[in-house]
Amino acid sequence: MPFIGRDWRSPGDQWVRTTEGWERMRLWRVKIFENLNQNAVARITRLAIEDLHFTKGTTEITSRRQPYIFFNNGSSKEKLELTSLSEALVRLDMTGAARDISRANYVTKLMTLILEKKLPALSGTSQKLVFNILESMVYEAIKTELNIGMMKDLLECACDALHEGKHFHIGSQCLWSKHMESVNRLTSKLAEYQMKERNKDGRVMLSDLPTDCLRTIFSQISDHKDVLRAGQTSTTLNQVTEERSLWRDMCLYHFNNRQILTFLPKQTDDVDIDWKNIYRRCYKRFGKKETFADMLALCSHCCGIHWKSLGHPCIGDQPFKCKDLSPEDFLSLFKL
Ligand SMILES: [Zn+2]
Repeated sequence: MPFIGRDWRSPGDQWVRTTEGWERMRLWRVKIFENLNQNAVARITRLAIEDLHFTKGTTEITSRRQPYIFFNNGSSKEKLELTSLSEALVRLDMTGAARDISRANYVTKLMTLILEKKLPALSGTSQKLVFNILESMVYEAIKTELNIGMMKDLLECACDALHEGKHFHIGSQCLWSKHMESVNRLTSKLAEYQMKERNKDGRVMLSDLPTDCLRTIFSQISDHKDVLRAGQTSTTLNQVTEERSLWRDMCLYHFNNRQILTFLPKQTDDVDIDWKNIYRRCYKRFGKKETFADMLALCSHCCGIHWKSLGHPCIGDQPFKCKDLSPEDFLSLFKL
């Protein structure tokens, strides 16, 4: 007699229809929890604590889910399904990470890479997730008034990717048009944003700081455009941002010796070196230095991908090593 039942080893998936189309049930549950309003989460937690007369271990309930995922890169009899990008993006809480100042930089880089190189090859579910994360990032930027310029660049990148992949993308034409609509909506939202001048509250302003402090701050800013913009705001700041020594410090911070030596003129006195020009040429050739306050890592013991600051519940009792995952390394784990 033929075996007509579903193989018990097949992981299968339950799907649920939502206003945004079909979603996998198990990912939908996680997403609902992640997107819950903070007040609703607090209320549910309070009710749960009251119901259970919870006296000990309340932090377990109130704390957020630890974002991690066990990466499965090969099929076996027990586990047929490979880890998908959409699952990883949800389980690693990318939407929440976009709102977290220490992880936002990493998410921005990851989003840029996805939009530039991988967008048309992503599944419909992953595409929707990418645009949800993008929306979350734009609203957070408007709310906190941080990284507005970075978001404008990201939206431009998304717009280009949508135009380029128009004729060879995965997913329906309707879905692609929806992405275009949401990018246009976010772009106009960002265009409406007007930066307000800070009210005089008597607290210290950037221009009140001593020049030595300003030099140290400027030399470690990740985007030199911010330094140039700051220099346009006042005469004092302009003097600091035009100093040769500041651009020398910026060169030393952002580029290594080998890179600097490529453009450093030989047999020239230090006084004659145009460090701003060397910085410009190094930036053009070698690009921006990537610095992440927090990043993803892969556990060598259990293949758990997790945020370095948040950790993961490792299944082994032996000491393990974690390998840092740059955004490029993370994307290369998935067959796209
Ligand atoms: Zn582990």
